[in-house]
Amino acid sequence: MRIDVLGVGFDNVTMDQAVAEGVRLMNEDGAHYVVTPNPEIVETCREDSEAMEAVRRADMVIADGIGVVYGAKILGTPLKGRVPGIEFAQNLMGRMAESGKSLFLLGAKPGIADQAAEKLKVRYPGLQIAGTHDGYFKEDGPVLTQIRDSGADVVFVCLGAPKQEKWMLHNGEATGAHLLVGLGGCLDVFSGNVQRAPEVFQKLGLEWFYRLLKNPSRIGRMMKLPLFLIHAAGEKRSRK
Ligand code: UDP
Repeated sequence: MRIDVLGVGFDNVTMDQAVAEGVRLMNEDGAHYVVTPNPEIVETCREDSEAMEAVRRADMVIADGIGVVYGAKILGTPLKGRVPGIEFAQNLMGRMAESGKSLFLLGAKPGIADQAAEKLKVRYPGLQIAGTHDGYFKEDGPVLTQIRDSGADVVFVCLGAPKQEKWMLHNGEATGAHLLVGLGGCLDVFSGNVQRAPEVFQKLGLEWFYRLLKNPSRIGRMMKLPLFLIHAAGEKRSRK
C-alpha cells in the first residue's frame, strides 16, 4: 500500500528495496515506469489531473525530495526515508552493468545526453548505451522508433516534470523497453555540466537550497516547497 501525501501515493521503500524492485521490473515482460516526485511535483499534480494520473499509474513512486519525507511525517504517516532519483539511477546502472543491460538516454539540451553517455560508459564498465536523444523534439514518432530500434532495456526520461511523467504514461509501451525512469535534470549532472550539491548540503536535506543559491531564477518554482508544507499541515488538521 502506498503512503498518501496530498493525493500522491509513495512507495514506502528504502534505497535497496527500490533498486531491487527496479531490477525486477527491468527483467519483467511489458513496459513499466518509475517516477521520482519532489514537493514541487506533488503540488503540480494537485493542479494538473493528467500529471496526477501519470504519477498514480507508475509502477513505483519514490520520494525524491526531503520535503516529501517531511510532508509524510507532518501527516503522521512517515516514510522510511528519501530515495533520491539520481542515486536510484546510479545504483540501477551499477546493476545493469553487471548484467550487460542497455540504456537509452532521453532528454536535456542537444549534445548533453551524448556527453553523459561517454561519462557513464567509463563509470559503469559493462553498461551498454543503446542510444541518446535530446529532449527538445516536436514529434514523438521518430524518437520512439529510434528507442525501439535501439533495443534498449531501460530508458532514462529526463524531460523535466510533469512532461516526463506524461510522456512515460503515453509512450512507455511504444519504446519497447521494460523500464522507464523519469529523472528530471540528471543528464545535466551525469554529463558533468551541473554539479550536485556538496555532501554536507545533501546530508542536511538542503540540496534544494544549494540549487537555489546556484540558480536564483528557481525561486518561483521553489515557492512550491513552503506551499507544500502548508498544505500538508492543513491536510493533517482536516484529517483530525
Ligand atoms: N528538458 C527537456 N525538454 C524540455 C524541457 C526540459 O529535455 O522540453 C530538460 C532540461 O534541459 C533539463 C531537464 O529537462 O535537463 C529538467 O531539469 P530540471 O532541473 O528542471 O528538473 P528537475 O530535476 O528539477 O525536475
